[in-house]
Amino acid sequence: MFRRVLIANRGEIALRIMRACQEMGVETVCVYSEADKNAPYLKLADRAICIGAGPAKDSYLNIPRLIAAAEIADVDAIHPGYGFLAERADFAEICRDCKIEFIGPSPEAMSKLGDKVEAKRYAKAAKVPVFPGSEGAIDNEEEAVEIADEIGYPVIIKAAAGGGGRGMRVCHNEATLRTNIKKAQQEAQAAFGNGAVFIEKFLERARHVEVQVLGDKHGHAVHLWERDCSMQRRHQKIIEEAPGPGIERKKIQSVAEGAAKLVKSAEYSGAATVEFLMDDDQNFYMLEVNTRVQVEHPVTEMITGVDIVKTSILVAAGEPLPFKQKDIAVNGHAMECRINAENPDKNFMPSAGTIETLHLPGGPGVRMDTHVVPGYRVPPNYDSMIGKLIVHAEDREACITRMKRALGELTVEPINTTTPLHLRLMENADFARGGVDIHYLERLLK
Ligand code: ADP
Repeated sequence: MFRRVLIANRGEIALRIMRACQEMGVETVCVYSEADKNAPYLKLADRAICIGAGPAKDSYLNIPRLIAAAEIADVDAIHPGYGFLAERADFAEICRDCKIEFIGPSPEAMSKLGDKVEAKRYAKAAKVPVFPGSEGAIDNEEEAVEIADEIGYPVIIKAAAGGGGRGMRVCHNEATLRTNIKKAQQEAQAAFGNGAVFIEKFLERARHVEVQVLGDKHGHAVHLWERDCSMQRRHQKIIEEAPGPGIERKKIQSVAEGAAKLVKSAEYSGAATVEFLMDDDQNFYMLEVNTRVQVEHPVTEMITGVDIVKTSILVAAGEPLPFKQKDIAVNGHAMECRINAENPDKNFMPSAGTIETLHLPGGPGVRMDTHVVPGYRVPPNYDSMIGKLIVHAEDREACITRMKRALGELTVEPINTTTPLHLRLMENADFARGGVDIHYLERLLK
């Protein structure tokens, strides 16, 4: 096992990783930016190292400074968390060159699955369902039109290297496809340094369903079933739950087994998520593979009892996965509400400032993953998520009841948070029925 790990992240995920390391007897070194210098979780680390100014490019995204901190602190491994450098194959490669273990996939596996065109090839080989569309990158307009005629409009143009909801264009007819294809290529080149684009069928109504997978360095991979993350605003997930409400178990089982096979075929180790859209007839189409731990990993932990963060550290250290597929049982239902420092009544305007009063919910089946404490100042520099409220209960209905109760206990003052929106959604009849689509929340908020 590692002796000492550097945590190249901030906020709740830095604390989550720290907790895992502590329980594993691994020392922690946490880096921070000047904007986070008073963050309370830093006191829980064995060592904290300032790596630069508030803007992420000067600190959490600054590879030379992170590597310098890792060398000064003499760590064996780096955990990137999510966001920042978590999906940068060049960073994973630099870590390897510096003889520091990157807690995640190899740079090769990350590149293979991080590229949407290549991930689709692996998916097809593993019999994972994908969208009808181009086989690979599109060379020219005529080819795009031909494929679109075959699969039917609407289609979506996507950048192979795209991410964060950027680099996508929906086209409803040949004229818009023709005008958009070159633009999309130029934009992708400018934004991602890779002009490759592809097209696929665009689904008007869908749910977001994703499969959690874990792989090791000995050629094993298991899946931990699915999460439904359809409650979204501007492609940002707001509520996640597991299992997916109303999803036929046989269908998801075959998709999840395919996802594990896909990851295995790419010689992937660590945590990965294979994301899908699911249509009304419960047909699945792969969107992409995320090559890191996800924000919403706790809901899967709650229903399977598997500690995803600890397991990813274990496999990075070269240990085989400590369980087999047949050992993974699903127990009850879990749900996560993202608590963001935003005002849902004012178009989700960020609400930075100091938290004076804080009361965190507790009681049976309640887990709150957060780094905030009373007196904590929410810095304006980063993502607005200040915590995740996760509940676990015997079934979905009990889960909603419990979430309502826990949200009622949560007090974060005087800043604004997304808590009132969550309370409203827990009372919403469509949500209670289960199976809202990915555009539901935006329609509701209109
Ligand atoms: P990114 O890496 O930028 O997040 P994704 O491929 O995951 O890109 O797509 C982001 C979002 O765009 C999806 O969550 C979905 O809402 C929408 N989307 C992507 N592809 C399709 C499609 N073929 N049909 C309908 N919606 C799509």
